[in-house]
Formats: sequence, structure tokens, C-alpha cells
Amino acid sequence: MNDIRQSACPLNCWDSCGFHVTVENGKVVKVDGDPTHPITKGKICGRGRMLETRANSPERLLYPLKKINGEFKRISWETALDEISGHLKEIKEKYGPLAVLHSHDYANNGLLKNLDQRFFNCFGGVTELTGSLCWGSGIEAQKWDFGDAYSHGPEDVLASKNIVVWGRNVARTNMHFYQMLQKAQKQGARLIVIDPLYNATAKMADDFITVKPGMDGLLAAGIMKEIIRLGLEDHSFIDAHTEGYEDLLELLEGTSMASISEMTEVSIEEMTRLAYVFTDKPTSTYMGLGMQRYKNGGNTIRLIDALVAISGNVGIKGGGANYANLQVGQSFSFDQIALSHRKEQKRQFTMMKQAEEILSAVNPAIHMIIVTCGNPLTQVPDTNRVKEAFASVSKLIVIEQFMTDTAMLADYVLPAAASFEEEDIYYSSMYHHYVNYGPKLVESPGEAKPDLWIWTQLANRLGFGDEFHFTRDQWLTMGLELLDSNGKTLEALKQNHWLELPVKKIPWQDHVFKTASGKYEFTSQLGKTKDGNGRLKLSLPEESKWTDKKLAHEFPFSLLTIHPLRSNHSQNYHLYSKEPEVKIEVAQNIADDLRLQEGDRARVWNKRGEIEGFISILKKGHPNTINIDEGIWSRFGGSVNTLTSSSESDNGLGSTLYDCLVNLEKVL
Ligand code: SF4
Repeated sequence: MNDIRQSACPLNCWDSCGFHVTVENGKVVKVDGDPTHPITKGKICGRGRMLETRANSPERLLYPLKKINGEFKRISWETALDEISGHLKEIKEKYGPLAVLHSHDYANNGLLKNLDQRFFNCFGGVTELTGSLCWGSGIEAQKWDFGDAYSHGPEDVLASKNIVVWGRNVARTNMHFYQMLQKAQKQGARLIVIDPLYNATAKMADDFITVKPGMDGLLAAGIMKEIIRLGLEDHSFIDAHTEGYEDLLELLEGTSMASISEMTEVSIEEMTRLAYVFTDKPTSTYMGLGMQRYKNGGNTIRLIDALVAISGNVGIKGGGANYANLQVGQSFSFDQIALSHRKEQKRQFTMMKQAEEILSAVNPAIHMIIVTCGNPLTQVPDTNRVKEAFASVSKLIVIEQFMTDTAMLADYVLPAAASFEEEDIYYSSMYHHYVNYGPKLVESPGEAKPDLWIWTQLANRLGFGDEFHFTRDQWLTMGLELLDSNGKTLEALKQNHWLELPVKKIPWQDHVFKTASGKYEFTSQLGKTKDGNGRLKLSLPEESKWTDKKLAHEFPFSLLTIHPLRSNHSQNYHLYSKEPEVKIEVAQNIADDLRLQEGDRARVWNKRGEIEGFISILKKGHPNTINIDEGIWSRFGGSVNTLTSSSESDNGLGSTLYDCLVNLEKVL
């Protein structure tokens, strides 16, 4: 029997779509966009559609597996859970709970996926990961400037006169915003794209500015200098609602337009043009997540925020420094779910440096790693070191749907349910402010189980099962508790399938900021507690000819590792109809200098590692720039993170994945 059911996308994506899922004879056979969803409007991307392939793939893990003499053998759930809980007990008794590391990421945006934190907190606290490979520096930067990272509601862009999309290829990663941009352009808005790559979003722009990777903050400084030279800054906003403007002026006076132009590889004329764009209000700025994956990442976002602020585009309709929308996640009652007060001990490693930290940890050393919602062997920088670290512990447990690079290394692999096989609610703190309901539609294949079932079974064996004895409805109601007074109940969500969350659609409109001073802070008081002065800086990437001439001579090309088109990070590569290969996209000048043709084989390397693939030429890519999409598995020639560095960004909470110099040669 054929049944079309409303559901939601679980993927960690800007758009958090509503779905129409066709179920036939107990199987998901098709995934479409929900035409009634206010953002999705019936359209979804290939990654969402591929959830059907994912759910039905013959490669799904069906049974608990244990590695015995280097080979995986099927074991019963009873044995797996008894043995894993036994190891947890023994490690806690011998070394304390911090000898266990929880390595996780955000492969699934379900609210109840956060119950892993409840498990580890009730266990007594384990070594946790902090920061983010993805957007961490920028989030922290906006907390320093505004007190939090909030974006305007999706419709607000239609009120913009100018829209600056800075380092975000929305055509690839934020398709419903792409449609909104088309609408805004039709209504007369001008679209300006700033990016090192001439991507599909750049193609629709009225003006495209190509910038040297890692130099976006300096570019913002150049535009600010021009605004000030032309006397176009918004003094009414600056004088009444900001702190530290004098420090900003001093910083900008310390550099020249000529040197900014040389380093950003953007002409002074282009910066002047952008100064007029920003001050021809309202101008909205939509930032991507790539340009802050550098050593100077926090300062990059802070300088762009400052540009938005001095041009008077903060808190106005059609304006904004739109980076993330944490208001969305803040609508839910996390602590009810996570029970952080149950944590007895605490130790944190950063996401970026987890491998080094695992290898060097003492008092206690790490004896067990449990991986949930992640694939660190492809996603965490410096793959060779990550592999060494994860192989070094006596017990590696991976909860997964497929035999990923990380699962391959495990001692136990526990088969997890896919999204349509369990009930949850989904949202994203990136773009829009709707929460979606995803009911259970089908049974899991084999013996795959929801993570929640796994945590409950382990908790029962470890003596805190009472903290897990709730029904799905009770868990979800717990997570929605903060919204109850607004009538956003579980019943209403189940009935409507999506609900609008009560968030501000024009953040900071009242000019009351969440900073210590209550003002917009060019010099941040929060920053002061962390870096000593909280001032903006004209800082540079760690790997560039301006910071390390010798390194840049040996490795002359900037490597970007952008999000793939058809896979959410590493999730789908094994499902492509044609086996994926590593594609090395090179700027035209690299192809010309090295006499490379489309399809040539090439090797890309630096001191951390190397990777091989085929050449594709980026006609308008910024000179000396290379891109290799992230996420590709080792069996297909990956991971590209063998090349990337585990350094932390300036504010300590982000990765430096794009701060990476490499060399390239043709392989004959
Ligand atoms: S991956 Fe993003 S755009 Fe694609 S269906 Fe899911 S939420 Fe929508």
C-alpha cells in the first residue's frame, strides 16, 4: 500500500526542510519536499532525496559487530551491551570517568540525539569535546560583538536594497535562500557576492568580488577605511549604541589601503565601490562558514560585523550581520534533556585537537572512545594523526548506520536506526525559525536500533536506568517545555508538522545587545576576559606568504575543502550511482603554469600528508587557489583532511581547515 506521510529532514543543513515521504509496503520509496512547509515549499535538494537510498541501502549495518582477531563478527545485542557496559564500569573504577572520551558531531539534527549527553552526564561526566570544526570561530566572534549570534528572519532579505553574500555558496548549501535571493533581485535588490570561487551564487550576482582566501577580514577593514574616508559612517548608531569605536579607528589608521589591496588581492576601486554599497542602506550581509576556518577566523567575522555596524545596518529591516541563528536552538529545553548537574567530573578537549589530546592525555589517559553522530576519521583535521589516536585506545565504540572509515577502526560497531525509523523533532540554528516533526514511518532493518534505545539499555546496566525511563512523547514534551506557554506543544507540532518558533525576526532592533555593556562592542569585554584586551585585530592566516614566506615558497597554493554538493559532509559518498573520485579543482593560473588539462591525474601534498585525484579547472577561481570537496572516504581516495591542520582559530573555538597551503604536481 502506498502512503504519503509528512516528515522532516534530519540533516545538519541551513534549510531544515519539511518532507513528503512515500511509504510502500513498510519501506520508504521516495522523499519529496512538503509543499505546505513555509520554507521548503515543495522543493528539496539531492541530499534530502538520497535519504531514501540511505535508508534502503544494502550496505546498512544490521547487527552489532565486534572485532575479533582483526575481523568483525556478528554478536547479539545482549553480548554487545553487557560487554560495553562492563568495560565502562571497569574503566570508571580503575581510572575514573574521564578516561572515556565522547567524540561526536552533528550528523543528525534530531532533538533527542542530545540524549547522549544525558547518558554521559549520569555516568559521572566523561572527557567531552568543545568548539566546532564548522562554525565555532564565527559564533564566538558574534558573542564578543553582539552578545549572541542571531540572524534576520528569511523574509527580511526582501526589504534589502543591497544584499552582500560573503563566502556562502547558497546555491549549493542553502537552496531556499537562493530562491529568496532570486525573488529579491526581481524586486530590484542588488546582489553582491564576495568569494574566492566563482560559484553558482556568484553567477547570479550583479557584482562579484574575488578575494584571496583568508583575507576577508582585511577586506572588511579596507571597506571600513573607505567608508570613514568618505564620511559615510553612521554616527547616530556608533555614538549611541557602541563601545570601543576609538580603538577601531586606531586599528584602521595603522594600515594603508595599498597594503590591504596587495594582501586581499582586491583593488582599491572595488573596496570604494563596496563602501558605497554598505552605506546605501538597507544592506544585508549573509556570511558563510568557510572564511572563519582560519587562524584569524574570529577576527575575520568580527571585522565584517564591525563593517555592518559602522555602516548602520545593525538592527534595521533589510540589514543584519547574518551568520547563524542561535535563537532557534535556544527555544528548546536542553538542560532538561542533558541533566548537566549530574556531571561529577569535567575535562574538555577541543574538536580540532582531539587527536593530539587523546595521544597525550594523562591523569587519566583515554582508554575508551564512544563515537556518536560523527565520522572523525574523515572530518577531523590531520587524518593521519586522528587515525593514530583512535587506534591507540583499548576500546573504540562506534554507533553508526554504515561501515565508515571510523567504524572500520572500531572494536564494537552498534547499528543505528535511520531518521524515518524513529520519531524526533528537527530544527536548525542556521537560517529559518521553524521546528519540524518527524514521526516514525518504518521499522529499522535487521537489528538496527535508535540511539535512545542503546543509551537506555546501557544506563540500565550501569545503574541509572531510571533517568531513561520515559516515553518518546515524554522526552519530546520535556524538550519543548520552554515553548509551552506560547502554545507550541507537542500535540500542536504533531498536528501541524511544523511550527514557527517565537524568535526575533529583526534581531537587535531595540539596540539592546547581550554584551556586558548592553552595547555593540567593537572592543569586547567578553573578549577581554579571554585574550587580554578584546580589541579587533588585523590578523592573518597561519599559512600564507605574509606569515611564513618559506612555507609559502614550498607550498604556494591555498587549499579550500568546501562542502560537497551531493553529500552532507561524508554521509553519502558510498551511495553515489557512479563511484566517487577525488576531484582537484584548480584556478586557471595553476593549470596554465603547470600545463594541466581537465582530467589529468595530480598529487596534492604538504608536510601533513598527500592525496591524489583528477584535475578540474576553475575558470574564474581566485589565482593560486585549489578546492577539494571535504568528506570523501578512504576507500574512494580520501580523506582530504590528511592535508589540513589541527590548529585552533584565534578565539580557540574554531578549526583552521581552510588555512592550508599545499603544492601540486601532475602524476604521469
Ligand atoms: S539537506 Fe538541506 S536542503 Fe536538502 S533536503 Fe535536507 S534540509 Fe533541505
